[in-house]
Amino acid sequence: SIVVTGATGHLGRLVVRALLAADVPADGIAAVVRNEEKAADLVALGVEPRVADYSRPETLKDAFRSGDRVLLISGSEVGQRVAQHTAVIDAAKAAGVAQLAYTGVLGGPEADFDLAAEHKVTEQAILDSGLPFTFLRNGWYHENYTENLAPVLEHGAVVSSAGDGRVASAARADYAAAAAAVLTGEGHLNQTYELSGDTAWSFEEYAAELSRQTGRTIVHNNVPAETHRSILVGAGLPEPFAAILVNVEAAIERGLLAGTSGDLARLTGRPTTPLADAVAQALKG
Ligand code: NDP
Repeated sequence: SIVVTGATGHLGRLVVRALLAADVPADGIAAVVRNEEKAADLVALGVEPRVADYSRPETLKDAFRSGDRVLLISGSEVGQRVAQHTAVIDAAKAAGVAQLAYTGVLGGPEADFDLAAEHKVTEQAILDSGLPFTFLRNGWYHENYTENLAPVLEHGAVVSSAGDGRVASAARADYAAAAAAVLTGEGHLNQTYELSGDTAWSFEEYAAELSRQTGRTIVHNNVPAETHRSILVGAGLPEPFAAILVNVEAAIERGLLAGTSGDLARLTGRPTTPLADAVAQALKG
């Protein structure tokens, strides 16, 4: 089977959809989920549920079978992901899977910001496992920005601490299509892909696009990191999460999420979704 972990998440659902669109039969797809109820719609499509929790290694024993082609979608519980991913890798190794694809971060070991650390350790653990791997080093999602427009529209400002830094983001659906391509195509074993949007934009340009599409004036308000952190905490974000986001912005300022290798468009066979399309989608609600 083709096995997708995190299948009830945003990216996972899109990967399952992309596999079905690529004519993979539903009964050839397995969804590893921690909450089977959340997977009811996938099961209704004919996808096989395999219930397992990254944090409970004993539940992962039946998640994989010999010869499976597996996509490990990195977990969302920052700080716990090394132990979680290691448990998944161990289970995949014990089962003897044919491919372990992993959604890491653009730049791989070169990405030296806080959020990237667990990806670096995970990639090394996959290399150490000796399993045939495919590293999908994902850049940022458009949706990181466009799913959070309410405060931007309210204040007429995109607040960042990334200065003139640029982001080569792409739609989640683009990254999902790339994942489906490496799980269904040949020639992707032991390959590393630096996945990102075709175009890198600045926050100034993002604000200009928002202005254009809303017909209102939306500015880019660049603030020092410490100010940005307080603004995020003031808006209700937990302190550690605010710190992580500000640390990412510093990485953006240094150009770490601006790479445009073209790997994403090459894997999917189409240009990546323009940021303007994601903005239009979000404004439509
Ligand atoms: P989501 O938060 O929507 O999905 C995360 C998935 O991981 C969910 O299906 C969740 O299960 C599953 N998961 C989390 N913890 C466990 C666990 N302990 N056991 C089993 N499953 C678990 O994120 P996205 O789909 O948007 O993104 C996928 C991943 O990409 C994220 O988890 C994160 O690692 C990374 N990411 C990348 C970003 C980027 O811009 N490139 C931005 C944000 C995240 P459940 O559905 O039950 O919650």
